Amino acid sequence: MSFTLRSFTVGPLMENCYLLADSKSKTAVLIDPGDEASRLIAALEQESLKLKAIWLTHAHFDHVGAVADILDRFDVPVFLHPEDGPLLARAAQSAAVWGIGIRQPPGQTQALADGQILQLGGLEVKCLFTPGHAPGHIAFYLPSANLVIAGDALFYGSIGRTDLPGADHQQLIDSIKTKLLTLPEKTIVYPGHGPKTEIGFEAKNNPFLS
Ligand SMILES: [Zn+2]
Ligand SMILES: [Zn+2]
Repeated sequence: MSFTLRSFTVGPLMENCYLLADSKSKTAVLIDPGDEASRLIAALEQESLKLKAIWLTHAHFDHVGAVADILDRFDVPVFLHPEDGPLLARAAQSAAVWGIGIRQPPGQTQALADGQILQLGGLEVKCLFTPGHAPGHIAFYLPSANLVIAGDALFYGSIGRTDLPGADHQQLIDSIKTKLLTLPEKTIVYPGHGPKTEIGFEAKNNPFLS
């Protein structure tokens, strides 16, 4: 198993988009393409990667703003937990409230579910249902690579906002404690905003989880 993971901090909310690729098959997925589609497309082309899908941790506008532009260039499925469908449906409207313009992503998605295993070449990625910041939030866990792409559930020294429609603070804390802090201590956390961190570090030091 060999893979590459690149991160791109995009858009006005500095969202982390991840490009995950299986080295052998040269197949790739974009996780949370939030903005700057041309930069993401250029990265795929430079490395001669074949895009297989877009995976979304959740459907806040800062995570989906480049979906429409990516789909213009590549005919690939978009994966999202169904509980986040309503958020996706009003993504452009929500962005406008912030004074940010995005293209509305198409509504058609493939459903993600808790515990589902996604395959990318030889890589196995497990979906962890982690609602609270968003009702259909998913984290993508790669046990063999010891890493989790955590979206906006868990950040370095912080957690996702819960002052948004559909968010629930206690549900987020429960998700983090049962689905993320139970991963091996050395698991690297790649969040939706800010720098990466480690499960063991957050378990000991994150002030929201004590
Ligand atoms: Zn979010
Ligand atoms: Zn975000």
